Amino acid sequence: MFIRENELQEKIKTLAARINDEYQGKEVIFIAILNGAFMFAADLLKSITLPCEISFVKVSSYHGGMSTTGRVDELIGLNASIENKEVIILEDIVDTGITIDKIITLLKAESPASVKVCTLLYKPDAFKGKKAPELVGMSIPNKFVVGYGLDYDEKGRNLREIYQLKED
Ligand code: 5GP
Repeated sequence: MFIRENELQEKIKTLAARINDEYQGKEVIFIAILNGAFMFAADLLKSITLPCEISFVKVSSYHGGMSTTGRVDELIGLNASIENKEVIILEDIVDTGITIDKIITLLKAESPASVKVCTLLYKPDAFKGKKAPELVGMSIPNKFVVGYGLDYDEKGRNLREIYQLKED
């Protein structure tokens, strides 16, 4: 599998247009999950026309290699108040959904007006979470991918396209 730069950018513009439309007249706070979502967040926000804030947070959930541990201890770096605000979580990829479920639970404890998940990539065949992400750039097969913020042992985040890692 391979996703070209222009295809990614088109999907991101479509997501931004949907958000601009659905949240018209509202104030949004985007919570981008580091490290993976940094590039997606930067490109998406360029096409958002709503009054908005963005905060980058880190979760201790994933420790490299090709498997997911699903461990999330805490959200680090959320210094903005999200009370009564419309929250949109920005994720690079939702795989089993374990990480995002835990992030949602942590954020809901801060009494936001609403919480939705916007993810660039989604693996429906791997998903075991409570609720599928509301805003999805692209659904992909259950394969390990790298590039456009996504890493393999911290490498490859700088790539402009998305590549499937060879399994051998
Ligand atoms: P989940 O908890 O949904 O199974 O996985 C969440 C995290 O696992 C993602 O935020 C990402 O860091 C990592 N992950 C899951 N699938 C992939 C993948 O295909 N490629 C990379 N690089 N990371 C992945």
